[in-house]
Amino acid sequence: MIVALAGGTGGSKMVHGLTLATGQRDLTAIVNTGDDGEFFGLLVCPDLDINLYCLAGVVADRGWGYADDTFHCLEGLATYGREAWFGLGDRDLATHIHRTLMTRGGARLSEVVDDLRARMGVEARVLPMTDDPVRTIITTATGEQRFQEYLVRDGAREEIASIRAEGLDTAIPAPGVIEAIATADLIVIAPSSPIVSIGTILGVPGVRAAVAARRERVIGVSPIVSGAPVEGPAHKFLRGAGYHECSARQMAAMYADVCGTFVIHESDANEAAGIEALDVRTVTTDILMPDRASRERLAHTVIAAVG
Ligand code: GDP
Repeated sequence: MIVALAGGTGGSKMVHGLTLATGQRDLTAIVNTGDDGEFFGLLVCPDLDINLYCLAGVVADRGWGYADDTFHCLEGLATYGREAWFGLGDRDLATHIHRTLMTRGGARLSEVVDDLRARMGVEARVLPMTDDPVRTIITTATGEQRFQEYLVRDGAREEIASIRAEGLDTAIPAPGVIEAIATADLIVIAPSSPIVSIGTILGVPGVRAAVAARRERVIGVSPIVSGAPVEGPAHKFLRGAGYHECSARQMAAMYADVCGTFVIHESDANEAAGIEALDVRTVTTDILMPDRASRERLAHTVIAAVG
C-alpha cells in the first residue's frame, strides 16, 4: 500500500498520478485540513474536496471545484450584500451541505469523507489528518486572518509576520492515519506547501514521529523549482515561518528527519550535492505535472526510486 501526504492543488496531482500508476485500491491519501473553514454556516474542506474530486474524475480544469459548475447561488448571495469571494460552485455546495448536515448529526469528519468517497465511486482511501478542527491563522501587519481570507480574499499580497495552526497541538490523528503510515510499503510526501499543507499534517501530534520511523520508505517531491513555487505563494509562507531560502535544498532540509529520498527538478540538479550532504538520497527528473501523462510518469519514477 502507498500512503501519500497531500495538500490541495499540488498534492492532488501527485495523488492522481499515483492512482494512475498503481490503481486506486493501493492508495491511501492523508490530507491536510488546516485550510478548512466555515462559509455561510457550511463546513468547507478545500484540500479534501480537491483530492476527492480529482480521484472521482470530476475536478474542474483549473484544479479545484467541480467541473462545469455554475455560481448562481454565490451570485445571488452577492446581490444580498454577502461576501462572495470564496468560489463555491452550485454543485460543489451540495458537498458542503451534505458534510455539514452529517457533522451536525454527530458524524466525525473521517466518516463524512468516507461517505463522500463511496458515493463518488472513489476506491482510494482518503483520510483527513485529524477529525478535530484545525485552523491555520495568518498574521500580517493588518492583523490576523483566516487562511482562506489571506489566500483567496486578499490574494496573499501582504508579507506574513507569523503563522499558527489553531487546534493542532491537541489534535488527534484520524482513525487509520498512524496505522497506514506504520504499514505502508511506500510513503510519498506530495509537492504540497511545506508549511501550510505538509507542515500541518506532520504537526498533528504523533504523525511526524510515525513518518520518521519509516524514513527509509519515505520519498518527497519538491514543490519548489528553480527557486520558486510551481504555483501559489509557498515562498511567502516559508518567509512567514522564518525560512528565508526558497529552494529544493531548503525543502529537503525541512524534511530530512522524515524523508530518506527527495525528488528535485532537472533545473535544480546543482542542488543535489547539498541535499545528499543532509543524508537524503536525491532523484533528479521532471517534476512538473500539468497533465495525466506527466503525473503517471512521475509516479512511476517515485515508486521505482524506493523500490
Ligand atoms: P493548496 O493546499 O491548494 O495550497 O495546495 P498544495 O499545498 O497541495 O500545493 C501547493 C504547492 O504545490 C505549491 O507550493 C506548488 O509549488 C506545488 N505544485 C503545484 N503544481 C505542481 C507540480 O506540477 N509539480 C510540483 N513539483 N509542484 C507543484
